[in-house]
Amino acid sequence: LAQNFAAKQAEAILGHRDQNRAAHTDISNPDRKDGDYAADDGEKMKALVWMRKNDVRVVETSKPKIIDDHDAIVKITGTTICGSDVHIMHGVIVQMEKGDILGHEFCGVVEAVGAAVTRLKPGQRVVNSFCISCGECEFCKKKLTTACEKTNASRLHEKLYGGQMGGIFGYSHFTGGYAGGQAEYVRVPLADNNLLEIPDSVPDEKGLYLSDVLPTSYHSVVYTGVKEGDTVAIWGLGPIGLMACVWAFQKGAKRVIAIDINWRTDYAKSKIDRLETINFSKLKNGETVPTKVGEPQDCWFYPRCSTDSLTLYSNPECLSALLSCPQCLINGLTRLGK
Ligand SMILES: [Zn+2]
Ligand SMILES: [Zn+2]
Repeated sequence: LAQNFAAKQAEAILGHRDQNRAAHTDISNPDRKDGDYAADDGEKMKALVWMRKNDVRVVETSKPKIIDDHDAIVKITGTTICGSDVHIMHGVIVQMEKGDILGHEFCGVVEAVGAAVTRLKPGQRVVNSFCISCGECEFCKKKLTTACEKTNASRLHEKLYGGQMGGIFGYSHFTGGYAGGQAEYVRVPLADNNLLEIPDSVPDEKGLYLSDVLPTSYHSVVYTGVKEGDTVAIWGLGPIGLMACVWAFQKGAKRVIAIDINWRTDYAKSKIDRLETINFSKLKNGETVPTKVGEPQDCWFYPRCSTDSLTLYSNPECLSALLSCPQCLINGLTRLGK
């Protein structure tokens, strides 16, 4: 609570980054600003909102409306609770405000589009990108969309990390203050760039994974540089870690060793052929992960997706494994500096 309060004060002192934005930010609930962002006909909807640490509630609030010409309004048909949402619950994410609508992974049907939307039309089934990008800034042109410079007005983020990151649906004013998709409707800014059409042959339950979990895990394996014949260590077996194991094999890894501290190792082994696992909490005296693996690891990958994996990360064994490995990746959300 104190951290969140301090973050809010710091943002007030630093001043919001109002220049150079491609979309209206900080509309984390259509009822903010005395209902200026609410549907004109007064229609209501149900949404999951953050109240305070360890307190989220389903409430009735106003349905969103088109604010910018490039917006779309999507009627939600599927959404998820991501491991990253748990960090919000636990109070780790700053610049949350009471009433912020949560949820950065969703699919649904386009209900309305603004005048500047050209690629989408009402009635289409779509899945969102969890990050909100403009498609035209320096970083978007390089396809580094989570580093978009035009969709997040948080000055605090810029000062803390030395650079801007893009907006994220339902994930605090630290990442743009956009309302999320754990609701009946959501406003999607820059819709042509942030929504992907789902073919009729793909059900919601599959298409939904394209909003975060599948691309995040795939992107991580590609960026770590996994190649034919590699030995890959994956620390942490939440959803991202599990899928990274599959992608690593698909990229030709010779061995994939997954490390965690609990039942997840047995679960992963039962689901993924050829996967080797190490339950870190059961290492005997004198045993280490490298001695158990028995050969140098080419790639080290830390998905950072569960509370348990946060515990792993703070372990010296995990850090020393990182330092001894030529290709490493720590999965996260932000970019540091320019
Ligand atoms: Zn997510
Ligand atoms: Zn951009």
